[in-house]
Amino acid sequence: MDDSTRYDILFEPVPIGPVVAKNRFYQVPHCNGGGYRDPSAVAEMRRIKAEGGWGVGFTEQGEIHHTGEITPYIELHLWDDDDIPALAKMADGIHEFDALAGIELAYSGVNGPNLYSREVPMSATALPIRTFTSDPVSARSMTRRDIRDLIRWHRNAFRRAKTAGYDLICLYGAHGFGIIQHFLSPVTNHRTDEYGGSLKNRSRLMRELVSEARDVVGDRCAVTLRLCLDEMVEGARFSNSELRDLVAMHSDLPDLWDLAHGTWEDCSGPSRFREEGAQENLVKGIRELTLKPVVGVGRFTSPDLMVRQVRSGTLDFIGAARPSIADPFLPNKIRDGQIEDIRECIGCNLCITGDMTMSLSRCTQNASFMEEWRKGWHPERFAPRSGDESVLVVGAGPAGMEAARVLGERGYRVTLAERETVLGGRVARERKLPGLSAWGRVADYREHRIRRMANVEIYPGSELTVDDVLEFGFDHVAIATGSIWRRDGVARYHVRALDNDGSVAILTPDDLMGETIPTGRVLVYDDDHYYMGGVLAELAAMEGAETIVATPAARVSEWTVNTLEQSAVHRRLAERGVCILPSTALERIDRGRAILACSYTGETSDFEIDAVVMVTSQESDSRLWTSLEARREEWADRGIRSIRLIGDALSPAPIAWAVYSGYRYAQTVDGPNDDGDALPFRREVVSPVPGFRLRS
Ligand code: ADP
Ligand code: SF4
Repeated sequence: MDDSTRYDILFEPVPIGPVVAKNRFYQVPHCNGGGYRDPSAVAEMRRIKAEGGWGVGFTEQGEIHHTGEITPYIELHLWDDDDIPALAKMADGIHEFDALAGIELAYSGVNGPNLYSREVPMSATALPIRTFTSDPVSARSMTRRDIRDLIRWHRNAFRRAKTAGYDLICLYGAHGFGIIQHFLSPVTNHRTDEYGGSLKNRSRLMRELVSEARDVVGDRCAVTLRLCLDEMVEGARFSNSELRDLVAMHSDLPDLWDLAHGTWEDCSGPSRFREEGAQENLVKGIRELTLKPVVGVGRFTSPDLMVRQVRSGTLDFIGAARPSIADPFLPNKIRDGQIEDIRECIGCNLCITGDMTMSLSRCTQNASFMEEWRKGWHPERFAPRSGDESVLVVGAGPAGMEAARVLGERGYRVTLAERETVLGGRVARERKLPGLSAWGRVADYREHRIRRMANVEIYPGSELTVDDVLEFGFDHVAIATGSIWRRDGVARYHVRALDNDGSVAILTPDDLMGETIPTGRVLVYDDDHYYMGGVLAELAAMEGAETIVATPAARVSEWTVNTLEQSAVHRRLAERGVCILPSTALERIDRGRAILACSYTGETSDFEIDAVVMVTSQESDSRLWTSLEARREEWADRGIRSIRLIGDALSPAPIAWAVYSGYRYAQTVDGPNDDGDALPFRREVVSPVPGFRLRS
């Protein structure tokens, strides 16, 4: 096919009920940790996606009523008319670029502990509340009168959404969230009245709500349904075949079907466990059961795969949350033939941790995500340099490469020096670990960009010394020399080196990534709790070691609960024959034995061991910085105006932190020294005393 028209099909306008999307790029609802607390930050993030070419832009879940709220998670509210201005700001931003604005409406039912509103939760059937936090609260069963109330509350929300200017009103019943799914699913609906039992009865509430929505919004807005493709649990469930029956039974009901896999963990599977387009088999053929358009997701970043989804009649719209976070300009880049410039999502799920930790989402690939309003950062546009200055960046890991990229975009003369012959730092090593190959995109994207910039010079295989840095005489220097895994066991359980008589080989993640693979009986001791311990246990087991993973935490790779992969990690290790010892610390190493202690009682046990892999913590590699700091009085004479430490060399953290640090450095290199007195971002503060003025 002619290359210039190859992706045209993705840019065809598609009607959705009474409105028309300008193309097939559909940013499905996604959380961001900001919600009602940070409405301007969320609005600007959505606006910039619309600028990047998404034909449809959605909000995250908007809670329609205070009796169905999902505290502590921070989503949107439509509790009363006071919520309308914040919602309108988002819709207005999306409209600025001729995109359709969609709002996802949810009543949390059996997912709503109501910790904030303190109302008694209610759902299809009385059951304990089902969320990530296992709150000790139950929902009561709705009476028919409650259902009438629920419908009226929805009508109020439809009106508010319409007043706020939305074009698409989506009723949420997927991922186990939303009252529609609670009624549709035999797991959460045990009713024996006209709302329970047969599929026709279980879908009654859904039909009633769609009809009420149409009554309220008329032909101003489309009404869409976001439903579950398959609950993916054992036994009686809302299965893929039931969903197909449901679509066939209600083929004309909504203006669009938005289909999402099982639980949120299933739907947002990380690249470690799920391929791009993983839901294809569950969606295929549904399009033939209805005349209404279908949207599905699959962490789509490859335009050819997108075209295949449309041409094969599987999907009408390419749904995307994470790909739109990693690259808000993905549609425009495809339109303009800049395929190589797409900043592909790596499928790490770090963005999800913002919601799970009730903070603010970050993206490993896109440091500007959720900083668009707070700091005025943009994913593609950068303020030009403030002077003709040169910058030396030492170390080409994620921090150094991002600093070089953004400095290069700003027009600075940049030199990037790297000790190794390949660029990427930790990413160049970690991408070779089981399941992490897609993480290499962090380095690939940046290398591709900076290699095309005439003002950026790259010197791989160049280990710089303090004399080199001082002699070169750059105006500014960024030290991005990374970090090193500790060998002494210091982390959270041991804050000083653990007792070790030297009788057992001690390895670190750096050794294993350097391809020293332990043999025999190997203990992976994980007091880090993110992915590394689980990944290395998997690697050791794959290489034939008898592998045991011990962690003082109650779960293996405990922090991966926040990336929605902890249960997949446990399953994978169990499948590989790894012995998992939770709540177990490595107390000491003595005469070829690992002495373990229960992290609750201190009770010890021991066994013979051939090697221990210490996945405990990392230390900054700030040796170069320390030597430079010691010669600070020479800087000015050599023409150096600033030297700053960035990324893991400043303080080790996940890759996203290093990318952020590099971006921030490049944005502020010409700014005033940050003395920390002023808040470095905008926020919205509610004043409890209108008109209050400080007396000077
Ligand atoms: P970060 O995550 O902060 O980017 P990484 O550990 O990924 O840190 O990358 C740091 C990079 O710095 C590594 O690739 C390392 O080889 C390189 N490096 C360390 N010291 C020097 C040095 N003196 N000169 C050049 N490169 C260095
Ligand atoms: Fe993708 Fe990771 Fe960014 Fe999320 S944080 S959008 S998974 S790259």
